[in-house]
Amino acid sequence: MSMDDRSFAESYDILVIGAGPAGSSAAREAAGMGLRVLLIEKKEHIGIPVQCAELVSKWVSRYASFDLGSIVQSIETMSIHLPNGKTFEMKSPGYMLDRSLFDKELATSAIQSGAEVVTGTRAIEVSAEGVLIQRNNHKEWIRTRVIIGADGVHSTVARWMKLPSIRMMVALQCEVVLFKPQSHADIFFHPDYEGGYGWVFPKGRTANVGIGVLPLKTSMLPELLDRFLNLLNRSGELPRIEIVSKTGGSIPCEPRPQTVFGNILLVGDAAGHAHPITGAGILNAVIAGERAGRIAAEAIVREDLRYLENYELEWREAFGNALQYGFHKRVFLDENWKKKDIDFERLVKETWVGFKEYYEDRKKSGLTPRDTDGIVL
Ligand SMILES: Cc1cc2nc3c(=O)[nH]c(=O)nc-3n(C[C@H](O)[C@H](O)[C@H](O)COP(=O)(O)OP(=O)(O)OC[C@H]3O[C@@H](n4cnc5c(N)ncnc54)[C@H](O)[C@@H]3O)c2cc1C
Repeated sequence: MSMDDRSFAESYDILVIGAGPAGSSAAREAAGMGLRVLLIEKKEHIGIPVQCAELVSKWVSRYASFDLGSIVQSIETMSIHLPNGKTFEMKSPGYMLDRSLFDKELATSAIQSGAEVVTGTRAIEVSAEGVLIQRNNHKEWIRTRVIIGADGVHSTVARWMKLPSIRMMVALQCEVVLFKPQSHADIFFHPDYEGGYGWVFPKGRTANVGIGVLPLKTSMLPELLDRFLNLLNRSGELPRIEIVSKTGGSIPCEPRPQTVFGNILLVGDAAGHAHPITGAGILNAVIAGERAGRIAAEAIVREDLRYLENYELEWREAFGNALQYGFHKRVFLDENWKKKDIDFERLVKETWVGFKEYYEDRKKSGLTPRDTDGIVL
């Protein structure tokens, strides 16, 4: 079918694909500038199911407007536990979110700014002038001038661009009942958690307990999580193991080298915006989303889509160096994890964001610190 024959059900300035933190932030920003914005989400319910450990730096309040009701509790410090029994404490001011509420809040802000949001609708195909979307069995073409791919780690939009897959971690998590309140987050390193770590993030009366590892260890995850829960039980941290829910998913560990392709932008996990070591991706998704939405709107107002290149410059200016440096550490971590003579404590300190050793070869890397650098998670 030629483009002229294709009939478009609707026309928008900007189509945002995926209503996670990146997509809703982009839609809010662009609609707020008076553009016609459609935000589509394949899930029936925005924010559900939650696939996240829900910890975000307090910096998020600077970039996202959301009701304080989506914050379950504050986190002040992070304790890093090593298998040799040593524990290190670092400052890590953050919020434990109710991610389902948080995502809904961001989508609500987008709607209040003037964006149209439709759920249960997936993007399935792209053409020069639009995107084919599907809701139940009904398919229709939507005409759009700019496409923002905010569709997460397994991005369909990235597939349209035929982009190679990027490094990832996989994670399994359960939410357990917490018998006494806790205001710090725990991180556990162990040689068995290859390339990753275990976590206990308290969330009021419950806690998210999970493990992330390199994909080659995916099949080990259920057993590793079981053993981790038993360890927490034996150490008294969890006097009883009472699981109320389970989740999991993949986390990007590598920033994409290019995120602007003609009239298409990639944002958030789709662009590999999570931190390559910690896997923290909420804050960067919000920051990049805001920039993508604003720059897409400006490009349309100026009638110059080449202006979209500024998005690439702006997100890199905001947190590109932190990600690039994190990726350098990711490669180092993966290469050294299994080495027989490796000093595991030293390896952790050189590769975990909060330690001073993490920054030792910063100068050599030529990647100067930026705004969000040093945020542990
Ligand atoms: C187990 C786990 C724990 C994590 N813990 C943390 C943490 O504690 N702190 C932190 O900062 N980060 C954490 N992350 C990472 C964080 O969840 C992501 O970085 C963040 O959600 C990225 O936001 P996003 O908007 O880019 O993508 P997402 O939140 O993944 O949103 C993408 C949306 O696009 C939709 N979508 C996909 N394809 C289509 C399509 N074709 N059409 C329409 N819609 C589509 C999806 O349904 C989804 O709603 C964790 C991740 C995992 C898996």
